[in-house]
Amino acid sequence: MSQLHTFTFNAFGEQTYLLDHGNGDATVFDPGMSNADEQHQFKTQCELLGVEVVQCVLTHAHLDHVLGLAWVFDQWGVSPRLHPTDNLTWDQAPRAAELYGVQMDKLPERGPDLGSHGSLIACGMHRLEVRCAPGHSAGHVIFVNHDQEWVIGGDVLFQGSVGRTDLPGGDGTVLAKSIENQLFELPDSFEVWPGHGPSTTIGAEKDSNPYVNAAGSGLLQR
Ligand SMILES: [Zn+2]
Ligand SMILES: [Zn+2]
Repeated sequence: MSQLHTFTFNAFGEQTYLLDHGNGDATVFDPGMSNADEQHQFKTQCELLGVEVVQCVLTHAHLDHVLGLAWVFDQWGVSPRLHPTDNLTWDQAPRAAELYGVQMDKLPERGPDLGSHGSLIACGMHRLEVRCAPGHSAGHVIFVNHDQEWVIGGDVLFQGSVGRTDLPGGDGTVLAKSIENQLFELPDSFEVWPGHGPSTTIGAEKDSNPYVNAAGSGLLQR
């Protein structure tokens, strides 16, 4: 039985996820650990669970989601996988670090690109569906676990909010379409684990998210 563990890391309060495959292996999503304390916290959790990180995948390549990549590569030799449409975001990450005055180690070489919309990644016995959900960044993806009814959603949909669209590659209309077509078409019971803040459910956000109308027709109300 696989299990998801959450961490809140770095100055941006980014959510890093660790999926224990249940067989001694684990996948890390958006590793954002940015200092020795955060690295220690993550490593200790891995040791407690008795897992080795064997896979590293990204929802997108904004600075706050890639700060731990060099350390993860150093610890486990795992190269990050990103959707190729987010290449530009990746290339801009070092510049973003400079602008925000954040110390970031040189990004490691990337692993194989994530597959196209609808492709699957293996996490032990489980398969996660990769869905393209642009709008916050051009090549943003979400990972859907249909068996366990949850989504690692990155910065698309938050509890009571949505991802910002003012950064390069962002587009509010496109974001609204992604929420409507990729998230709100999932059953209400599906839990969303976002890139910032607490988890929520599809049903709760359809009901009360002030940025997306309740009918899910994708009109951002701002
Ligand atoms: Zn972002
Ligand atoms: Zn973020």
